[in-house]
Amino acid sequence: MSDNILVVLVNTSHPGNIGSAARAMKTMGLSNLCLVAPDQFPHEFATSRAAGADDLLERARVVQTLDEAIADCALVVGTSARGRKIPWPLLNPRECAERLFPESRQHKVALVFGREDRGLTNDELARCHYHVHIPSDPEYSSLNLGAAVQVLSYELRREALAAEGAASVATEWDAEYATAGDVEGYFTHLQQVLEQIGFIDPSHPGQVMTRLRRLYSRQRLDKIEVNMLRGVLSETQRGLSEPPATQAEE
Ligand code: SAH
Repeated sequence: MSDNILVVLVNTSHPGNIGSAARAMKTMGLSNLCLVAPDQFPHEFATSRAAGADDLLERARVVQTLDEAIADCALVVGTSARGRKIPWPLLNPRECAERLFPESRQHKVALVFGREDRGLTNDELARCHYHVHIPSDPEYSSLNLGAAVQVLSYELRREALAAEGAASVATEWDAEYATAGDVEGYFTHLQQVLEQIGFIDPSHPGQVMTRLRRLYSRQRLDKIEVNMLRGVLSETQRGLSEPPATQAEE
């Protein structure tokens, strides 16, 4: 994922959380970390909690204000662990990724995390286009900072993989998708066989075919698969029309 996605940690008090955030980011393919007035940084706890993600700490930009951190970002989303006085356009983690990821292809975007004890101030939240809330239990809604970074980074990664996947499924699949006509031919054939073997009573067919259609519609069959399924049906019919093999005499 691109450097255009900036993760901003505001005024973090525990250096270990900075390390956890870096690790969470790196596992999800993010690399651009900005620290606004961290209490203690660099710090050995940050480095040890980052494990193999200490390169992100080395590259991290340290600034004094949120304004400096987000100055060149065209879209800013702030995290919030609880409801605020003034409601703001609010996203869930998936919607957040759906907005940030595509825009990050054009310009810089930021995801802003708050202090362990108080989160982001109202002033800081007012600098954000959107707020994002991880739908935690309202009775105990506040995640550890590193865990919150993990959840939102994961959603960004899903979005990035989905964008790649959409391209690769279309180009790399080894068979053409079956047409509606191919699939319809299969269903006609299937029904015939199910009647032949007595699984469907033609005078009381019930919902069997509808349920089977729904089962198959949850897949996208390709032409090879439809041919194979039809082959199974044809062999079943051939078996039915052949006289049963005679049992060996005792
Ligand atoms: N007591 C603080 C909680 C801070 S938790 C408060 O009430 O705001 C530290 C940071 O982790 C938050 O600022 C936010 O960036 C992130 N975070 C924790 N829980 C979250 C949640 N449910 N949704 C979104 N961000 C969350």
